[in-house]
Amino acid sequence: MEIEKPYSLSDYDKNEAEQIEALMAAAKEPYPDPVAWLEEEIERNVLLTTTEHLINLGKRFSVWPNTFFPACCAFEVISAAASRFDFSRFGMEVLRPSPRQADLMLVAGTVTWKLAPALRRIYDQMPEPKWVMAMGACAISGGAFRGSYSVVPGINHIVPVDVYVPGCPPRPEGLIHGFMTLHRKVAKDKLLKKD
Ligand code: SF4
Repeated sequence: MEIEKPYSLSDYDKNEAEQIEALMAAAKEPYPDPVAWLEEEIERNVLLTTTEHLINLGKRFSVWPNTFFPACCAFEVISAAASRFDFSRFGMEVLRPSPRQADLMLVAGTVTWKLAPALRRIYDQMPEPKWVMAMGACAISGGAFRGSYSVVPGINHIVPVDVYVPGCPPRPEGLIHGFMTLHRKVAKDKLLKKD
């Protein structure tokens, strides 16, 4: 006995053609990308920067000062390091008696000509990159003792100075402002120098 088909072959073809035409009509534009969230994730979680910026960030927040404190300004450095001002917040609590482990020469006090060769030798022994801060009127210009036969009229006669912190003595806030100034300078350091 022959089974009756629900539709003829020509009906079937017509039906299929209609489906294809409907799909073609609806397929003018592609469906939106189902992983569009990926772009959002990348925007939120991927940070683009330069190697230079990252290295400078590391240098800024790990400045280790040496201890070249020949006179009374030193007490303000001690105060800046203690709990009230706490300069370890800036990653610089590691005061180094050895120049080979320091990258900041912090000169806090009066420098005499007798002391000058030691100052220069310590500077020469510090590895690159290195910076110098002159703290207080004496280190900057000889201060109250300027003109004396024995006093250096500013440590910039012996070593290049990056930051000057004025005062007699400068308060710890002044010293911390000097550190911030140094940080801004370090942030602009170039990895590849022309010289
Ligand atoms: S600047 Fe003033 S406080 Fe500092 S070492 Fe000279 S005399 Fe002392």
